[in-house]
Amino acid sequence: MRGHLIGFLRLTFPLRYCSRLIKIKMDCPYCSHKELKVTDKRESPEGIRRRRECLKCGKRFTTYEKVAIEDIYVIKKDNRREKFSREKLESGINRAFEKRPVEKNKIDKMINEIEEQIRKTGKKEIKSSVIGELIMKKIKKIDNVAYIRFASVYRDFQDINDFKREMREL
Ligand SMILES: [Zn+2]
Repeated sequence: MRGHLIGFLRLTFPLRYCSRLIKIKMDCPYCSHKELKVTDKRESPEGIRRRRECLKCGKRFTTYEKVAIEDIYVIKKDNRREKFSREKLESGINRAFEKRPVEKNKIDKMINEIEEQIRKTGKKEIKSSVIGELIMKKIKKIDNVAYIRFASVYRDFQDINDFKREMREL
């Protein structure tokens, strides 16, 4: 149990608190050996998931690499400030992709990219409109139907003409 905890801290802390870390140093949480092999990598809602294997003791473990974004505030249209929420970002995007033939992995990857881009601005506060436009740009590249769905909620389409205008721009 203690080994697990140390492993967890070792894996979690550098990632959460070194925002511009490019190369991540990691030791085996079981034997502290420094040479690890990545056996699998995929996007997940928890961040980039990597299966790693220690080249010394052969034990395997999983890491989730996620950028800390909890301290960013979103400024809404009515000037209210709200803590950035990954969950809200996800639910809005997932709703747009409901029943669309798009791989979950692809959507998760997009969400991770959006989160990363927001973080990269280095700003503590970001307008909700900036985030909205960013999301729309990303969705548009993947699926037109999801894009129209998201845009109609986000841009608050008032009538069929708004919808037609958006369709023409596709
Ligand atoms: Zn090891």
